[in-house]
Amino acid sequence: MTSNSFKIAILDGDGIGPEIMKQAVRVFDVLKKHRDLDFELISAKFGASAYFETGKAFPDETKEICDSVDAILKGPVGLSHEESQKIPVNEQPERGAILPLRARYNTYANFRPIYLSKNMAHFSPLKPEIIRDGIDILLIRELVGGLYFGAKDRGVNAQGLRYVKESLEYDETQISQILHVAFQQAEKRKKVLHNIHKSNVLISSVLWNEVLDEVRNDYPGVEVKHLLVDAAATALCLNPGQFDVMVMENMFGDILSDQGGGILGSLGLMPSACIGPDKAYYEPSHGSAPDIAGKNIANPYSMIGSVAMLLDMSLKLQAEADAVWRSMRSVFEAGYSTADLSPKDSGVEILSTEDFGDKVMTKLDEILSTP
Ligand code: NAD
Repeated sequence: MTSNSFKIAILDGDGIGPEIMKQAVRVFDVLKKHRDLDFELISAKFGASAYFETGKAFPDETKEICDSVDAILKGPVGLSHEESQKIPVNEQPERGAILPLRARYNTYANFRPIYLSKNMAHFSPLKPEIIRDGIDILLIRELVGGLYFGAKDRGVNAQGLRYVKESLEYDETQISQILHVAFQQAEKRKKVLHNIHKSNVLISSVLWNEVLDEVRNDYPGVEVKHLLVDAAATALCLNPGQFDVMVMENMFGDILSDQGGGILGSLGLMPSACIGPDKAYYEPSHGSAPDIAGKNIANPYSMIGSVAMLLDMSLKLQAEADAVWRSMRSVFEAGYSTADLSPKDSGVEILSTEDFGDKVMTKLDEILSTP
């Protein structure tokens, strides 16, 4: 990769994936117009749609494309519960595509910003006195360990009963590497790290906390606050302002980050970055939203925000990433909404997926034209 020429894999995914991806990739055209940058976008099949076309949710050709690029932009994958039954269990998109993608590139660090500016605070279902100046949390989720990646067994036991066994597995290296990421982020931000665990029940959390007590010696300026995951779920609703950086294991992060979308007002406001040692991919935190697919009403903020994170974290184009964030937020701050964030009778103008994309690109064009 030369410093201004980048190859990016584009995995549209399923459900609303293609609709929101169509808006997100427009960012690259606007950037090319204003900056000496070149982006080669390479589309590849991934998810349920890939399975129906090729028999594999993560086809070999897609693996080769992903291996060859500087970064991967991925739309959500998956089908409704009923439609998923048409795919063999091991090829269903999470097991057949997402987990193998994460394992292939060891994308152990998942960054999930839960952000709502003060001027967008009206989108939150929380009361104004709870939201105050908005929400600004960075949730860091371990992404390649724990229950989702542990050994699995299913069968019939000696009594003739069907049983299942899934293991929550971590070694100390997996724990320390994600904790280092979290401490480094806390150092750059408010120097407070909330460690979310369940050490009163799970011995995996006991080891996690032991490792934390070793790792924290490298970051004497960061204050650590411990919180049990169940209490954290309540605290996110009652007092989100207490949090800055939060770190947790895989499944806790999956669940609490969706709650993060809830306190913002919609999962459509939740982009994410999945970072490994040599490769990263970027995706909305949410799923394929089959209930609204094909209706041109999905909120593309999460997908466009994932482009902003890609520009910032993989391509080191911080100013351009910042311009993308400002463009998106300015649309909402100007009084517009998308269908997920406001009821129909709210009196605000509700934009379609495409109209939101148009307004963001117009604003981005304007910002990048300004010397
Ligand atoms: P979901 O996240 O797709 O949707 C939950 C709710 O949020 C729905 O009401 C949906 O309409 C809404 N929503 C989500 N994104 C939105 C957006 N951008 N704009 C407006 N509204 C939005 O969760 P689900 O329905 O439980 O799952 C659907 C499928 O997605 C399942 O197959 C699931 O396995 C899969 N999934 C995939 C990923 C991923 O690709 N990383 C993550 C989670 C779920």
